Amino acid sequence: MLNTTTAPATGFTPLQSTNPGQVTGMYILPRALKNIGIDTMYGLVGIPVTEFAYLCQMQGIKFVGFRHEQQAGMAAATHGYLTGKPGVLLTVSSLGFMNGLTATTNATVNCYPMIQISGSSVREPIDLDQGTYEGLDQLNVAKGLVKAAYRVNQPQDIPVAVARAYRAAISGRPGGVYLDVTTPCLGATMDKDEAAKLFFTPVDPQPPMVPSADSVKRAVQLLASAKRPAFVLGKGAAFARIDDEIKQLVETTGIPFYPMSMAKGLLPDSHPLSAISARSTIMEQADVVVLVGARLNWLLSRGQGKWNPQGKFIQLDIDPQEIDCNRPIAAPVVGDLKSSVTALLNALKGVTLSMDSAWVPGIQAESKVKNAKFLQRLQVDTVPMTHWSALGPVKKVLESNPDVILVNEGANTLDDTRDAVDMSLPRHRIDCATWAIMGMGMGSAIGAAVATGKSVVAVEGDSAFGFSGMDFSTICRFKLPVTVVIFNNGGIYNGIGVNPSGGTDPAPTTLDVKARYDKLGEAFGAKTYYVTTPADLQTALTEAIASKLPCLIDVQLAADSGKESGHIGYLNPASLYQFTV
Ligand code: ADP
Ligand code: MG
Repeated sequence: MLNTTTAPATGFTPLQSTNPGQVTGMYILPRALKNIGIDTMYGLVGIPVTEFAYLCQMQGIKFVGFRHEQQAGMAAATHGYLTGKPGVLLTVSSLGFMNGLTATTNATVNCYPMIQISGSSVREPIDLDQGTYEGLDQLNVAKGLVKAAYRVNQPQDIPVAVARAYRAAISGRPGGVYLDVTTPCLGATMDKDEAAKLFFTPVDPQPPMVPSADSVKRAVQLLASAKRPAFVLGKGAAFARIDDEIKQLVETTGIPFYPMSMAKGLLPDSHPLSAISARSTIMEQADVVVLVGARLNWLLSRGQGKWNPQGKFIQLDIDPQEIDCNRPIAAPVVGDLKSSVTALLNALKGVTLSMDSAWVPGIQAESKVKNAKFLQRLQVDTVPMTHWSALGPVKKVLESNPDVILVNEGANTLDDTRDAVDMSLPRHRIDCATWAIMGMGMGSAIGAAVATGKSVVAVEGDSAFGFSGMDFSTICRFKLPVTVVIFNNGGIYNGIGVNPSGGTDPAPTTLDVKARYDKLGEAFGAKTYYVTTPADLQTALTEAIASKLPCLIDVQLAADSGKESGHIGYLNPASLYQFTV
């Protein structure tokens, strides 16, 4: 029934049917994916999906092979966020599946559309717990961690399974979807003509969800009554690709806006109505806040703490269950953002707002003072460099290359870079986002470069880089225009931790302040730099971006630059160590 034929250029021997009237599941799967518009897959192969990946390449799907599944998953998630279509991750059974699942779960938490397709072992011995090769009940492990999970057992079900996964990933609130494909399903054959009849294009897989007229009216009435209103823009708004509508909403109302981290650039940070430097004022003084694709979660103190206790919220979100989750919402507008913002714009026509005339000028004056003070912090030439003296040149170079996508992770490196670098274009900043995770850097940089064809700069703490560093080799193998900038202060938070036992082991937070990460880049043929001064960093970054080649810049910081947990040190529990030493 099946034998092997040699594929010339690869030297690899993919399984193909000798019977031209028959096709295998692993042939149907890429066809089904192509049929719904999937043109790229990120993954790491092995039993039982290696031949499948070759068949994807053969059928014209770009396959980006990684060194670790988690990074391939971060790439797929970023691809989903940046294109609006699900990114696809391919993993092998058991550990490969588990490594990838971390990224699929992270995508679900962040509302990024992605599909993890994993091979899985033969079902019968798994269900009887008989100890089979890479045996794991993957479907049931995935359920509960992802938006939806399906298993496909026979080739004739593959097109429907793919359509279901696709719809689940992008309809309503987007998220990560798991599709389990068993080894027998990949290898089983069926009649080619019968298979051809199974392919279909799902109609309207991302249907608009129009908010009710009453909800829009309620929201407009509340907004019209506000004395000190504000918008909070979240990455849901960036994902929705309604850049013009958002601009119109802000500019026709004249209401200031505060962008969440990945919504930076939706409107330029330098926009006259940007309240990015007046976060506390918005929280403490705004009387009506409009959440636009932003959740009132920990990143916004769950609507508590500093927030004006009398303040009221209007929330525009696609997920009805998001409403009231932390604080009562006076005017929920449940619908997709394109429909909701358009409805709001229409309903606002002819409506007079009652905004205090001093509200916006007050925010602008405060921002001016704070921005000037902040700039001073960046204009220092401290050597050895601190985060701030390093960020001076990084800010200059990135702001003069606004179309470069910025990927950013770390603790101090994340917080300080976010504050320092103004963004001016939508969907140009990708970071650790809602889960505050480390280890998304290389994957997200690769996904961003592949999905958009644009240049990418990843600004990484040395610890953050460590999670995904080996996939710098993937950047090099695929010759992507990605520059990785490593802020090396030799540790988690900083490199001055002391082992309290007096022993010679490094402290828990200590890494390698003398490490030459540039040498690691050299191993894979990248253009590399080791810089110790702000001036050299500026030259290196300018040159690296212009080269459009894989580059790695090792930025030597002082070991004492950075504090524990960056801006969120308050989340650390008081430790016994602090009390007893
Ligand atoms: P941020 O971290 O920037 O505040 P979040 O990820 O917390 O952003 O919130 C994004 C919100 O946007 C989620 O509640 C999600 O349901 C919502 N969302 C995502 N896509 C859409 C869309 N197309 N229309 C409406 N809401 C959306
Ligand atoms: Mg560090």
